[in-house]
Amino acid sequence: MIIQAFPSGVFDTNAYVVGCEQTRQVCIIDPAPESAEKLFSFIAEHHLIPKAIWLTHSHWDHIGDVAPVKAHYHIPVYVHPLDAPNLENPGADHLPCWIDIEGVTPDHLLHEDEKITVGNLEFTVIHTPGHTPGGVCFYCPQQAVLMSGDTLFKNSIGNISFPTSSPEAMWPSLAKLAKLPPATRVFPGHGPSTTIGGESWLPLAKQYFGNQ
Ligand SMILES: [Zn+2]
Ligand SMILES: [Zn+2]
Repeated sequence: MIIQAFPSGVFDTNAYVVGCEQTRQVCIIDPAPESAEKLFSFIAEHHLIPKAIWLTHSHWDHIGDVAPVKAHYHIPVYVHPLDAPNLENPGADHLPCWIDIEGVTPDHLLHEDEKITVGNLEFTVIHTPGHTPGGVCFYCPQQAVLMSGDTLFKNSIGNISFPTSSPEAMWPSLAKLAKLPPATRVFPGHGPSTTIGGESWLPLAKQYFGNQ
């Protein structure tokens, strides 16, 4: 399986190229600000075939380069409907944004438990509201891989004090992730990868992070 992170922009947001070694087909997850040129070079150098842009959520540090990447490859953009408004109208989520971002109309709206594929890999969409209402994680059971966006980080969780955040929604979302197999490798929206088992506090997340 191909998984390459490109930390980009002021918050070192992880843009990812994720895909299937047999078919060379890949998706681009969260094309962060200033990630486009790095993604283009990597994809060209490794002769990969980009099929889609998948968004874990629509915060500006995750969608900054959606427009140029979509324009470059003419590929569809997937997002959960509850995070679509901020993709179409960046700033609609009232999060202070420091850069100009071109709005994009999504091509596909994701839903809980949907199966999406790239090459021979199948991912399940896990709706994980809390950090944003339309936050999702992409889970590949075959490869035991979770792309966790800003829901789960190594040793931490995403901010739940933003204008569209909801702590009440976050705890059940983290509880869903806690049920995944412990060996599942987790690739977050910021920082290094981890495993579900490595985050042993997950079932007690509310106790640890409930007073944020
Ligand atoms: Zn975020
Ligand atoms: Zn982020």
